[in-house]
Amino acid sequence: MAFMCATGKHRKPGRVKRTTAQAAGVAALTTTGVIGTLAASPALAAESPVEQTGLTPVLAVNDDVAEQIDAQAAAQEQAAQEKAAEEAAAKAAAEKVKQEREARARAAREAERKLLNTFVSPIAHSYVSTGYQASSSLWSSGSHTGIDFHAASGTSVHAAGSGTVVSTGWGGAYGNQIVIRMADGMYTQYGHLSSIGVTVGQKVAAGQQIGLSGATGNVTGPHLHFEARTTPDYGSDVDPIAYLRKHGVHL
Ligand SMILES: [Zn+2]
Repeated sequence: MAFMCATGKHRKPGRVKRTTAQAAGVAALTTTGVIGTLAASPALAAESPVEQTGLTPVLAVNDDVAEQIDAQAAAQEQAAQEKAAEEAAAKAAAEKVKQEREARARAAREAERKLLNTFVSPIAHSYVSTGYQASSSLWSSGSHTGIDFHAASGTSVHAAGSGTVVSTGWGGAYGNQIVIRMADGMYTQYGHLSSIGVTVGQKVAAGQQIGLSGATGNVTGPHLHFEARTTPDYGSDVDPIAYLRKHGVHL
């Protein structure tokens, strides 16, 4: 009866799946002499090998397969993440390049705009000795069509702003003169020059030397006669001081 009892106790837990404790239990039983009964029991003899050599390897294989699948999935996931990261990095780099290019273009446009809007006095460190529309018998119109800048002969004359030279040469009462079409569509004229340093069609920048002041034409002494005009021609003059001030020149 004792054997039957022991066997019964053993068998029941034996069916309750494999655990470490269960395996230890089987080992304990075999070392206490029950082994004879175990071996003699066809049911146990048949059951144990199935459990030990049959199920366990199957489980092991399943685990291996599962691990391989997991590893593969993990590798694929990692590869996908790395690819996504690379794409994100490439996109960010492209965006950065684009932004830098746009910033350079903006800066260039700003510099161009600034240059086109930069105006200077045609004679540096000088002053207006005769104002616009001043009356004098010196001028055929009876009224001054420009302003005179105090300037000794040979003083550097600068383009008041960016533009293109449209006329150079002798201008009668104006003596040697230069007319420039400004970037804003207006015209500036420089008269009584002793020297002309530009040619028709030449682009000039604000402050660029275009000639030297003098006393050519109808004058009583050296100075620069300066006009602002709406056309290249005499008679289309506007207030040159207002024009220069409008463009930021302090007179
Ligand atoms: Zn004048």
